[in-house]
Amino acid sequence: MSGGATAGGPAAVGRPAAAGRPAAFIDRDGVINVEVGFLHRIEQFAFLPGAVEALQRMQAAGYLLVVITNQSGIARGLYTEDDYQRLTSHLRARLADAGVRLDAIEHCPHLPDAPLASYRMACDCRKPLPGMLRRAATALHIDLPRSILVGDRGSDIQAGRAAGVGRCWLVRSGAPLSAPDLELADGVFDDLAACAAGLAPALAP
Ligand SMILES: [Mg+2]
Ligand SMILES: [Zn+2]
Repeated sequence: MSGGATAGGPAAVGRPAAAGRPAAFIDRDGVINVEVGFLHRIEQFAFLPGAVEALQRMQAAGYLLVVITNQSGIARGLYTEDDYQRLTSHLRARLADAGVRLDAIEHCPHLPDAPLASYRMACDCRKPLPGMLRRAATALHIDLPRSILVGDRGSDIQAGRAAGVGRCWLVRSGAPLSAPDLELADGVFDDLAACAAGLAPALAP
């Protein structure tokens, strides 16, 4: 990032900071790609049907795209940070092929009782805690009340609530949803595609 430049210019002096942009906070496994359990190999990666188009639609509707993903497989020693980064590069590249730019990808590699000491901590970023969302919100000047979150677990929704995200939705394309999970959400959709269509019906085909 280059320093020095001020986005607001003289007009911003003495006025409240600009409100910022809304974001779509999106869980990865079970929402964007098929949940396979501790995914770390590119050969195992597969987009869920309609997910790429849904991201295109959200981006076109003006949402920053922020992926937020718990990656305790790193703390468990099931795969490494390098494995995770390789898969992330693959995800970014396949989305870029479709004209989708992810504005941020936040991951939590920690676990309180992790086998690997370097990742063993009670962090503030593992969902249901909101650390990843807050980090992205600060970095990208996100307007949280105007933002949305899409996840496939109750812990996703709890993280969104704790961060102050305006609307938090569940999808049925990943983990099985319990009744308490469903209670937490502002809405439930079959998948990210249905979610995006409901979000911006004017942009639907
Ligand atoms: Mg998930
Ligand atoms: Zn963490």
